[in-house]
Amino acid sequence: MSKLLQKVYSPVDFKNTGHQLIDELTNHISQVFDENLSKVINWKEPHESLTFWKDFLSNGDSASLFEEVLQRSTHLHHPKYIGHQVGPAAPITLLTAMISAILNNGTAVYEMGMVTNPMERIITELLCVKIGYSDSSSGFLTSGGTLANLTALLSARKAKVSADVWNEGHSKPLGIMVSEDAHYCIERAAKIMGLGEQGIIKIPVKADFSMDVSLLETHYQNAIQNGIEVFAIVGSAPATATGILDDLDAIGSFAQKHSLWYHVDAAHGGASLYSSKYRHTLKGISKSDSVVIDGHKMMMMPGITTALVYKDGRTSNATFSQKADYLLEDSQESDWYNSGKRTFECTKNMMALHWFVLLKTYGEAVFDDYVTMLYDLGRSFGETLKKDERFELAVAPMTNIVCFRYMDRALDTATLNHINRQIRQKLLEDGEFYIVQTKLRNKQFLRVTIMNPFTTEKHLVKLLEKIKIISENIDVLKP
Ligand SMILES: *Cc1c(COP(=O)(O)O)cnc(C)c1O
Repeated sequence: MSKLLQKVYSPVDFKNTGHQLIDELTNHISQVFDENLSKVINWKEPHESLTFWKDFLSNGDSASLFEEVLQRSTHLHHPKYIGHQVGPAAPITLLTAMISAILNNGTAVYEMGMVTNPMERIITELLCVKIGYSDSSSGFLTSGGTLANLTALLSARKAKVSADVWNEGHSKPLGIMVSEDAHYCIERAAKIMGLGEQGIIKIPVKADFSMDVSLLETHYQNAIQNGIEVFAIVGSAPATATGILDDLDAIGSFAQKHSLWYHVDAAHGGASLYSSKYRHTLKGISKSDSVVIDGHKMMMMPGITTALVYKDGRTSNATFSQKADYLLEDSQESDWYNSGKRTFECTKNMMALHWFVLLKTYGEAVFDDYVTMLYDLGRSFGETLKKDERFELAVAPMTNIVCFRYMDRALDTATLNHINRQIRQKLLEDGEFYIVQTKLRNKQFLRVTIMNPFTTEKHLVKLLEKIKIISENIDVLKP
């Protein structure tokens, strides 16, 4: 073996670097918990970052690599991180991430997943019970909500479409129904599946941004009249931009009436199955055929890990099988332990470790505590905003996602859009808080997702004060 390779695999080097890194990461976590000492984000323009890393590769000091990575990344453990839906991973899952990387057991076949295949089965069966599915339900873990949604829609096509598209390709236009506000990955999945623009039957939303279920029947009939075979309908729980949940119960009844596959994209809100207070927001989810839940959103896990569960486990065995009729396949008992048969991935991370370690160490209650606390805070922040005439809510929040904008009734929409874009840009450059933005009905909104259990009402009030100060210094000269 070359000297270099000996160095690469040196256990002593691993130990030394590892111990040092754990110390640095511990410091990082404790530092970001003290919001007065650090910024959430040290904003750099893309070209600055590129120049820095190009230079670092040639001239940087290796000893400072990890420190630079920490310094130059966005700090999700910081209580003023209230931006995207990925949350601060529970520290114990940072360790399971390391075990996964070291063991590299790719999980697809049993011999390469003797630990994780059984764990996946246990975890997904627990989720099936929470949803209200039956004994014949099952699922697996996969790499992200985007891939999980695509996989579910492929299962739906296999189970519902009259033609054998898997083997013979398309012979007839196919369609799915989904809210116009659904996550863009649903549309992307439909396009990958070759459904085309006409195959994505978009249902408008109501004033409260939930799917207008009163329009389902007419949109369905129109599609049928246009020769489209509609095979699935997707409910959002919640929609990403607004945090508003669709009426899962009503969509479920509609799906049953027309024998459509009912998929619930609960990437964000699925974790509320564990919340005794907010479980009701998912009413009707048991009517679904498949559900997606992200572990890296509302379940404190590092990215990416997603549960995809099926009411009828056999339909998941059939997704990528050559046989047209899944009912001819053996029962799910046959080889549940080779999870690669049912997943898009061949190799994947040992992601089941994160789910298992959280359940084993802290019990289910930890998910209840987390979701309930964050939804509570989202809703109370909504109340705070409602009382302040300088702000306007897009909609009363149902979850921990809150969309609002700086408001001045004397100004028109274009000016307000300009001001709110400026506010978000200045917040980004300032780095004390990290929030995002979204456009709803042509109005520019600021968007906050409260993901960190260390975030409090006080932080949010401070954010509003800061926004008011920023707004005073924005140039609003009309063009
Ligand atoms: C985040 C999100 C997704 C995408 O999931 P990834 O894990 O980021 O791929 C899909 N749907 C909804 C509703 C989401 O909130």
